Amino acid sequence: MPPVLGPYEGESLIGAEQPVIGGHAEFWDAGVVVIEPDEPQGKDVIISCAVHGDETAPIEMVRDMLHDIFAGTLQVKQRTLFLIANPAAIVNGTRFVDINMNRLFSGAHHKGTTPEHQRAEKLEQYVTRFYKQKQRFHYDLHTAIRDSAHEKFAVYPFTHGAPYKKEQLTFLAQSGIDTILLNQAPTTTFSYYSVRAHNADAFTVELGKVRPFGENDMTRFATADAMFRKLISTNELELPAFNGARHHVYDVCRTIDRTQQNFRLNFPDDVANFTEFEQGYLLATDGDTEYRVEQAGERIIFPNADVAIGQRALLTVVPVPIDKLELV
Ligand SMILES: [Zn+2]
Repeated sequence: MPPVLGPYEGESLIGAEQPVIGGHAEFWDAGVVVIEPDEPQGKDVIISCAVHGDETAPIEMVRDMLHDIFAGTLQVKQRTLFLIANPAAIVNGTRFVDINMNRLFSGAHHKGTTPEHQRAEKLEQYVTRFYKQKQRFHYDLHTAIRDSAHEKFAVYPFTHGAPYKKEQLTFLAQSGIDTILLNQAPTTTFSYYSVRAHNADAFTVELGKVRPFGENDMTRFATADAMFRKLISTNELELPAFNGARHHVYDVCRTIDRTQQNFRLNFPDDVANFTEFEQGYLLATDGDTEYRVEQAGERIIFPNADVAIGQRALLTVVPVPIDKLELV
């Protein structure tokens, strides 16, 4: 990686500009690179990775895109901001250094002073500085800690009642992401920040299971990689017509927080995301509180018994027929 993508400024390019085919690149900060085409085609696209530092595949995807842009083999026609969100955690080889950065947006960064709090605030400032045109997109790329019954899925942040967009669902399906998880409340994630503060179409995109650097089978990310490259390098995407049958949609049913030291998940560590349990099954105990499966079809997602007290340890989701959604 060029030094500008790392956490240390050194003899850096920060503040510099560099020509690329059909435009120029600006280096705003470590891991903050803007590609400004000479003739922008109307979309402002943010592609972010490494909000979690050990989620390597999206970092490798972004690295390769930047490599190809600077090598002159990928011409960017839409204004694009690449964000490598948490370089210090990448260097550390961990999800985060002090605190989970994907709980620090929409102002939550004011509640602390760690480098991650400071970086989240700066990332918000860069996003604000970047968005200029009306069509705004933000794909925040992640990989999951564990296997998933649906390998790739996207979290559709709370829309505050606005309809869900067929074009975005189709774009995601064309990227190999046919499973959508609907958030029904505001959150402090990066993607929700872009939705709420900037009226962007923004998603947390989970691309598969995390592996160490260099051990990712990049062919499993090829479909998504090709669509993101197409998004930034073409004037129009020319997507196929919306087809509801392509999409699996889930609603968040319950959020289970760890509130006690004595918190336990009642299933093995390697249970896949979107695994279904029968009604009545004991999912977790939090001190004296028992959490059991309440609804038929209820599935678990993002289990993590080791979170700090007060943080989310588990979500449950239920399938929703796509014709129940308001779509536009
Ligand atoms: Zn993540």
